[in-house]
Amino acid sequence: MNKNIAVIRGDGIGPEIVEQALKVLNRIAELYGHSFTYTDVDMGGCAIDKWGDPLPAEMLKKCVESDSVLLGAVGGDKWNDVPGPMRPEKGLLRLRAGMGVYSNNRPAKIWPQLADASPLKKSIVDQGIDFIIVRELIGGIYFGEHKTEVVDGKATAIDILTYSEEEIERIGRIGFETARKRSKKLCSVEKSNVLDSSRLWKKVMHHLAAEYPDVELSDMLVDNCAMQIVKNPAQFDVVVTENMFGDILSDEASMITGSIGMIPSSSLGATTCGLYEPIHGSAPDIAGKDLANPIGTILSAAMMLRYSFDMAKEADAIENAVSAYLDAGYRTADIMSEGMTCVGCAACGDLILQNLKKE
Ligand code: NAD
Repeated sequence: MNKNIAVIRGDGIGPEIVEQALKVLNRIAELYGHSFTYTDVDMGGCAIDKWGDPLPAEMLKKCVESDSVLLGAVGGDKWNDVPGPMRPEKGLLRLRAGMGVYSNNRPAKIWPQLADASPLKKSIVDQGIDFIIVRELIGGIYFGEHKTEVVDGKATAIDILTYSEEEIERIGRIGFETARKRSKKLCSVEKSNVLDSSRLWKKVMHHLAAEYPDVELSDMLVDNCAMQIVKNPAQFDVVVTENMFGDILSDEASMITGSIGMIPSSSLGATTCGLYEPIHGSAPDIAGKDLANPIGTILSAAMMLRYSFDMAKEADAIENAVSAYLDAGYRTADIMSEGMTCVGCAACGDLILQNLKKE
């Protein structure tokens, strides 16, 4: 199969981790007889430096015209003082909106080899952590009006949170469909005791539930969910929630699995052209030091193969190679533990490559 992948290396550790994922994709192409071509796309701080814009229109066009997009990470201290609309992260929000990817899928799964890296008690980890957060990605407060104005002589900041029935319904369907493919349990998370947008969210979810009688729907307030994720994560299978709640809960969920550097994500809309990226940021504190864990990006590439290119065997091969690498006792610094061998970002990529075999 021939596929054109738009590649955004971005800022900070972005170029280092993307490089490792490309090595893995190239080997997959060799092993399975595919042809992957890569189109470089500038986005984030590097695009601001080069083009004066975090995502110039022609860069977005390259992404929309590709078969899927692989992204490292964007942002960094250098661009902290850039005005709001020109910030690196705005490039990412515009990319998500421009690609129409309204559903962000983040697995929170503990690798048995890394159980010790979880900050949770062993008795909790032993019950298993394996759930998915389906997060609405292009609506809600992140996409509402943002302004700061002076009211009665005092600076006052306003951020608008809006959700339409239609926006809730389309992400709700992804939640129900995802639950159908797993244990048929869906937990809808909102703040309906306070927010109107959450009351509409809950109403739409329950309306949709009638179409999915095989799926058991439950509701949970977001503050309770934040507690339950650390108290009893085994209770969750699929969680569906709005943009900001999903942003926060998915970082919490990633932490209990050991390291933010291990978690991939997919973002999809109405087509198979998806956006695949690790859930972490550009980690400026370790950028350029060969310290980053590239596994979140490598597993994002595997998700791309599975969900956008229908290459399940190839995705399995990558996941098995990661597992074999962990079995062999190699760890990047973020997940290092006693008795293991500490390796850098590039060596991690090479070792995973050595374990990559045709399934
Ligand atoms: P971060 O995720 O970049 O880093 C948080 C901590 O985790 C740091 O200590 C970092 O060293 C560590 N870390 C992250 N990824 C790692 C990896 N692969 N391997 C090992 N350690 C890793 O979050 P932050 O520090 O809050 O943000 C840094 C920059 O990234 C900011 O400019 C922020 O806006 C941006 N950001 C970008 C994205 C994105 O591109 N999708 C997401 C979040 C934050």
